Amino acid sequence: MRQLLLTCLVALFAITTMNCAQAKATPSALKLYTFDCGTLQAADMDGFSSAGDYANTTATLAGTCFLVRHKKGDLLWDTGLPGDIASQKSTVSGNFTLSMGKTLVTQLFEIGLKPADVEFVTVSHGHFDHTGQVGSFPSSTWLVHKKEVEAMFAKRNAQKRFADFIPLKRKTFTGDYDVFGDGSVVILQMPGHTPGHTALKVMLAKTGPVLISGDLYHQAKSRKLKRVPSFNDNEVQTRESMARFEKMARELGAKVIVQHEQADVTKLPALPRFLD
Ligand SMILES: [Zn+2]
Ligand SMILES: [Zn+2]
Repeated sequence: MRQLLLTCLVALFAITTMNCAQAKATPSALKLYTFDCGTLQAADMDGFSSAGDYANTTATLAGTCFLVRHKKGDLLWDTGLPGDIASQKSTVSGNFTLSMGKTLVTQLFEIGLKPADVEFVTVSHGHFDHTGQVGSFPSSTWLVHKKEVEAMFAKRNAQKRFADFIPLKRKTFTGDYDVFGDGSVVILQMPGHTPGHTALKVMLAKTGPVLISGDLYHQAKSRKLKRVPSFNDNEVQTRESMARFEKMARELGAKVIVQHEQADVTKLPALPRFLD
């Protein structure tokens, strides 16, 4: 009997220790990790400026995703191009040649995390280069602006196109959304590119305030010239969002990251390093 009791205690200890080893470490301070979520080479940038001045120009756009680590949970911002592109040299989709070095999940493993550790996932908007790997996070809660989810599921073939979003737990919001309730990570309502397009504000202790653009701008020069893609849902709304974003950037003295701008992204710390 004593032997049995001892065996049970040893087994219980082993299970407890194993569970502890598997639990993720909670960060003491806010951290912002940058993931390479693919590259888009545009054969013709014409559609990226309603002014017509980008016609017959080409560009390479970075696909970028971010992980915000907060003591109350992890938030993934955007999920990039579809993960199967990582197994190909490149693939052509309409105006774009797409390529990818590593999937999001592979990059998460490099910082000691797995998809189930990510409590919250949000996408700046429902375009294919931001939603591609959401299927890798089936246990996360999807945070989404009400107008974006409505616009996504009003599209043709939406049930198929956005099938990976359907089983997710969903938290819908309007206006801005304070993710952890302390003002440190706020999803910003910035409509125009799409009806419920969003940007992200992260208040880091050392780096200071950071604003992540979503597709409010696709390039640094578009930000400077205030160019609006002709394929945007609403140009007037886009310009209003740009004005709000720039006012916020000025008032906060924020570091602005244009997610598709390679010059912005290459300056960010490469994994396993992060901004804090
Ligand atoms: Zn977009
Ligand atoms: Zn995009």
